[in-house]
Amino acid sequence: MKFNPSSSMKARVFSGVQPSGDLHIGNYLGALKSWVKIQYDYESIFCIVDLHAITVYQEPATLRAKIEEIAALFLAAGIDPKHSAIMVQSSVPAHAELAWMLTCVTPVGWLERMTQYKAKAETQQTVGDGLLQYPVLMAADILLYQAAIVPVGDDQAQHLELTRDIAQRFNALYGDTFVMPATHLPLVGARIMGLDDPEKKMSKSATGTNHAIALLDPVDQIRKKIMRATTDSHPAVDFENMGAGVRNLLTIFQAFSGWSDSQMQAHFSGMRYGEMKKQVADMVISHLEPFQKRYREITAEPGYVARVLKEGAERVAPIANSTIELVKRRMGLYTA
Ligand code: ATP
Ligand code: MG
Repeated sequence: MKFNPSSSMKARVFSGVQPSGDLHIGNYLGALKSWVKIQYDYESIFCIVDLHAITVYQEPATLRAKIEEIAALFLAAGIDPKHSAIMVQSSVPAHAELAWMLTCVTPVGWLERMTQYKAKAETQQTVGDGLLQYPVLMAADILLYQAAIVPVGDDQAQHLELTRDIAQRFNALYGDTFVMPATHLPLVGARIMGLDDPEKKMSKSATGTNHAIALLDPVDQIRKKIMRATTDSHPAVDFENMGAGVRNLLTIFQAFSGWSDSQMQAHFSGMRYGEMKKQVADMVISHLEPFQKRYREITAEPGYVARVLKEGAERVAPIANSTIELVKRRMGLYTA
């Protein structure tokens, strides 16, 4: 069936990933896996948010290459381009346009309270205004498509709350305009932690060779990283008393396997860490190996990913433009 935004009666899903580094298992378990699962229940739009990535400096050639790499990873994960639109944020100018309109109804105090802003600002010598404005652009991405559902990892829950606050404020000032988007978090894997430091969430932009498992990491590297992951001073798994590192490894296993809590406890209780890590590595590799094979097949076809992105942008532009028209009319901006 061909995707037809104007005639679809299904509620819309929107979500995105920044092309700010190598996609990792946190991005997969927190976001992509949910997208694949729910895509057919909705009219789905999945976006590579390049305008978000430049809120911290990106080397231009790397950024350009990452955009298509991430689109190919969406496809390899199982996003069906015949049903779901895969598109790049900057190819639909309405994202930036709506972001400005929403900036004008957003109190700066709301933005200064954002945890991600505070954490990322700390890592920069000069804090660009874009870093502060980031959540407004994210609100624009979502509200532009009147999305009802936004599947994300737990770290984005605060930005989603802010999106609803901005939408409510706009609706109160100018009349009912935006659909209120709901946050959709996975039950397991909503916050995967760094393998080197289980107190910090796994992030694309974090440094440290043993921090994250990239979806395209070679198999032997995946195994090495898991075997070296930080645990705690106990010798074996104890569900009553376990450190954050062990909990994180077991969460990774559970999210990939789909096992229940009781299956996890029955299997892993009392298992020594060396053996537990080996089994976690086997589980991760059994999912990532076929995934990487699909990625290689997808990227072997010249021009395919670029075509998917072009078609995606063309499909969603009419939805975006009609929201801009509506917002302009509501705000009293000039329309022909
Ligand atoms: P960056 O460090 O550049 O911010 P990131 O790893 O946080 O990169 P994003 O592109 O910001 O990735 O987020 C893409 C999606 O992945 C979002 O839905 C986000 O909530 C989810 N996500 C990111 N990190 C994790 C994680 N550690 N666990 C679960 N979900 C995550
Ligand atoms: Mg992030």
